[in-house]
Amino acid sequence: MAGKVYIIGAGPGDPELITVKGKRLIGEADLILYTDSLVSDEVVADVKPGAVVEKSAGLALEEIVQRMVEVTKAGGTVARVHTGDPAVYGAIMEQIVHLNEAGVEWEIVPGVSSVFAAAAVLGAELTIPELTQTLILTRAEGRTPVPDGEKLADLAKHGATIALFLSATLMEKVVSELRAAGWSDDTPVAVVQRATWPDQVVVRSTVGEVAADMKRHGIRSHAMVLAGKALDEKLQWSHEHKSKLYDKTFAHRYRRAVKQDGTAVANSGGDR
Ligand code: SAH
Repeated sequence: MAGKVYIIGAGPGDPELITVKGKRLIGEADLILYTDSLVSDEVVADVKPGAVVEKSAGLALEEIVQRMVEVTKAGGTVARVHTGDPAVYGAIMEQIVHLNEAGVEWEIVPGVSSVFAAAAVLGAELTIPELTQTLILTRAEGRTPVPDGEKLADLAKHGATIALFLSATLMEKVVSELRAAGWSDDTPVAVVQRATWPDQVVVRSTVGEVAADMKRHGIRSHAMVLAGKALDEKLQWSHEHKSKLYDKTFAHRYRRAVKQDGTAVANSGGDR
């Protein structure tokens, strides 16, 4: 019987932020390979007797694949554990190609991305009615090039909330691109380093101050940068931006709208 590789999102750090399914599969796996310093040892603590737990940081892609192929060909299962959600900057496709070539079955189990963990830590909603209904997940351009059409200065012109992965050492560049897109210096920016870890650091700042603020806090890695009007802390105390969800005069699938005279309006049947 052939085994299987499960590519599992471990969540942002807090070992309770893995899915029930991910935790079960780690507990059942014969080989557990986990990525880097951003996956807590606690996430891979509950394994079955005899299971092998290995850090993949020091291994080359070929070595990682070789181990996964060996175990699955012998009928075992592998838990390949990635930080956050594997679909964003997880470098999983290059592993999948090798698994496909070797005829190994695989499945992805999603996880809580650091972008959502950081939003939770900040108490933020990233899509605020009438301010922005869009979230852009991207990175600053460093040694890894960003394709044409995806430069931060272009993306920022939309005025949407921007989540920056892998960008902590490139903040001067980030700021100049946001300014080039017309963002004012007082636009809110929030940074969460090591979100949901015991040593998490939160910095509330602005486009004008964020580069200096991060330098002051010594933040150069493991940081999620969230920028845009939705990050304004004052929104937590303002009734100004309401969705239509609880609006009495707005019908959606689960509720009939009510006219001024109290009679029901036909339901549109769609999402809100
Ligand atoms: N797949 C991961 C991202 C991997 S790329 C996810 O979904 O979160 C690594 C980058 O993710 C880091 O440079 C940082 O920008 C971000 N990141 C990952 N874990 C983080 C955490 N706990 N707190 C803040 N940022 C984190």
